[in-house]
Amino acid sequence: MADNKKKVLVIPNIHSAGIELLAARPDIDYQILESQAPEAILNNVADAHAIAVRTALISREVINAAPHLQVVARHGVGYDSVDVPTLTNRNIPLAIAIHSNAVSVAEHAMFMLLSLAKQGVYHHQETRAGGFARLRGTGRGVEIADKELLIIGFGRIGKQVAPRARAFGMEVSVYDPYVDHEIIQRAECRVVTDLNLGVTQADAITVHTPLNDETRGILGENQFARMKPNTFVINTARGGVVDETALVTALRSNAIAGAGVDVFVGEPAPPTSDNPLFSFDNVIVSPHSAGVTQESLKRTAIEMIQNVLNAFDDELDPATVVNPEVLRGHA
Ligand code: NAD
Repeated sequence: MADNKKKVLVIPNIHSAGIELLAARPDIDYQILESQAPEAILNNVADAHAIAVRTALISREVINAAPHLQVVARHGVGYDSVDVPTLTNRNIPLAIAIHSNAVSVAEHAMFMLLSLAKQGVYHHQETRAGGFARLRGTGRGVEIADKELLIIGFGRIGKQVAPRARAFGMEVSVYDPYVDHEIIQRAECRVVTDLNLGVTQADAITVHTPLNDETRGILGENQFARMKPNTFVINTARGGVVDETALVTALRSNAIAGAGVDVFVGEPAPPTSDNPLFSFDNVIVSPHSAGVTQESLKRTAIEMIQNVLNAFDDELDPATVVNPEVLRGHA
């Protein structure tokens, strides 16, 4: 009976549409863990065949405590919270929800860019504080039309940003050494092969790479020193892709015009209220919420659970698997 069923450990919170998919499968038992604490996960993972996880850390210890584990499925596309080498050693695929939130993140990058260009934070605070009349006619905002946006990382999200920026009349350039120039040019964007040169020309820069040893600090002191003082820098990728200390220094010295920051060094712990980034009125911040919209939450939950079901049914799409080399062992 229940012994023959596969168990899915769901680490919260996910949209009910994903849970409904599990409930429709009589061959599957599922447990929704109310806590993301490492001890809670360790105490409940021993009989799991799949882990469907939102943001909790899936460490080596957790993976090793799950002898029946067949798949880990992430809610979203980032996977720095999962110990991939340990999964790969055990031939366990890590599936990500690749179609889930690219549009939401791209819209968020545009929202931050527009907010910076229109001095959204400053005007909002001043207007609410009664500064309406004083501000009339000061013209602090700028247009984004005819300005150049540099997109770093032309994957699922970067590709969604390009047409949105072009629709606002921007010139778009792209730095991504792993994408064919033809793909970039077909998207009506200019290819940048030298990042240090690219940053000197951009009026706005938005980062859409994963966080890894190569991309950590891809925008750092050296790049900020080359930027024009009117440049806006937006990071909706991962904390650390843009060097946070160098960013604060650049803002303090007015080396750049402003920043949009959705992701912080040190997550999943929230940044503390004394984070220096919170003190600027030309910085807009959000709580790692770029990919989280009502539409994307539903889509992501469905896609994550579908990845689990596909793994059980030997139908996992290799394009969704971070470590596809493990799939050969399943053939
Ligand atoms: P993707 O894998 O489709 O694209 C990443 C792109 O980065 C690829 O084209 C790759 O070639 C490029 N890249 C890798 N190394 C590079 C380098 N050194 N220089 C330039 N480009 C490089 O990923 P995606 O779906 O577009 O997501 C990008 C990142 O956004 C994710 O890794 C994740 O960390 C982040 N993300 C954040 C949120 C959020 O809520 N803030 C939501 C989803 C994703």
